Amino acid sequence: KSKAKLQEPESIDTTFDDVAGLDNTKKELTEVIEFLKEPDRFKEIGAKLPKGLLLVGPPGTGKTLLARAAAGEADVPFYSISGSDFMEMFVGVGAKRIRDMFKKAKENSPSIIFIDELDSVGRRRGAGLGGGHDEREQTLNQLLSELDGFERNEGVVVMAATNRPDILDKALLRPGRFDRRLTVDMPTQKSRVEILKIHAKNKPLADDVDLEKVAQSTPGFSGADLENLLNEASLYAGRDKRKKVTMDDIDRARDKVMMGLEREGVQID
Ligand code: ATP
Repeated sequence: KSKAKLQEPESIDTTFDDVAGLDNTKKELTEVIEFLKEPDRFKEIGAKLPKGLLLVGPPGTGKTLLARAAAGEADVPFYSISGSDFMEMFVGVGAKRIRDMFKKAKENSPSIIFIDELDSVGRRRGAGLGGGHDEREQTLNQLLSELDGFERNEGVVVMAATNRPDILDKALLRPGRFDRRLTVDMPTQKSRVEILKIHAKNKPLADDVDLEKVAQSTPGFSGADLENLLNEASLYAGRDKRKKVTMDDIDRARDKVMMGLEREGVQID
């Protein structure tokens, strides 16, 4: 992930059509998107936007994708950083990055700030190995003060993603900070079909490919795993110099992806 992203916002062409399933989460985001599109209309009637939205769910379920799609739907600039990026920084650099990012986002509002892996910077203070981690604590303190430093109707929405809400510093979850939680669940069988369809769009499939069957045989697969599955399958086809991906390619790819998941200790049921 490039650090340049911080300085230059991304303009996003991802939309909700790129996100399969997650209908309730999308519905909850719609309100925020409406506000970002026309902040003045909402301001006039005294409506206030939530400041911080926390996307909670297992890895690879589309949290980043949803945040990007929200920016694409609202057609606003998207500023993103990953909590883990701060881990390599010198003391004070992370805090400065946070400050600069909020400044830019406010100047260019309406806008969205997205913090991936919030837990790596937002872990409970003083709970780390060997006590405090100066850099992390400074960054976290800066984030808290930035969250407090703007009004709900300034047109900046901060979204953050985590799969470990239980280890977050409670200060992050107070009213006026990340006080709205959106759950991003593992896909159902029906959603797995939809996800497969999205990622099969640019892959020529042989007539024997039945995505319903693939969805049936992939419980425990996240969206990212399904994308990976189709990619592996197309690699098998490519290696054999075939022009189409067959069900056999997909079966082999599934076994491979599944083995990887089992190694990581993911429960396949
Ligand atoms: P992490 O916690 O690992 O950062 P995440 O929840 O942010 O994961 P994403 O990075 O959004 O997951 O998902 C990875 C990729 O998986 C996406 O870019 C997309 O291609 C695919 N994907 C995941 N969920 C979906 C979905 N619901 N619909 C379509 N594609 C999906």
